Amino acid sequence: MAAPQPDPRRPLPRIDPARCTGCGWCVAVCPPHVLSLQVVAWRKRSVLEDEAGCTGCSKCEPRCPFGAIRMERPQRPDSGSGSAEGSGSSSSIS
Ligand code: SF4
Ligand code: SF4
Repeated sequence: MAAPQPDPRRPLPRIDPARCTGCGWCVAVCPPHVLSLQVVAWRKRSVLEDEAGCTGCSKCEPRCPFGAIRMERPQRPDSGSGSAEGSGSSSSIS
């Protein structure tokens, strides 16, 4: 029997520890209960405990009143060509 494999392209919540206040709204709204509150460095914050169990439903993201959650798709390991990340603003005028 094959266990159901999670879709590798599904987005996962990335929680910004600097913004998270540990209010617990995201934990309450998560259907499969894969988020939990943990105490890290004397501060309560939300942690994605079971990444494989996350369905990528994105319900947690809009529920966060502090904008601490961002849904991101994992990077594909088969990156043959160069990265297409364009965060710089280097402009060459000649
Ligand atoms: S809803 Fe936002 S601030 Fe509240 S515990 Fe979740 S991530 Fe942290
Ligand atoms: S995306 Fe959905 S399943 Fe995943 S942590 Fe957020 S609410 Fe839970």
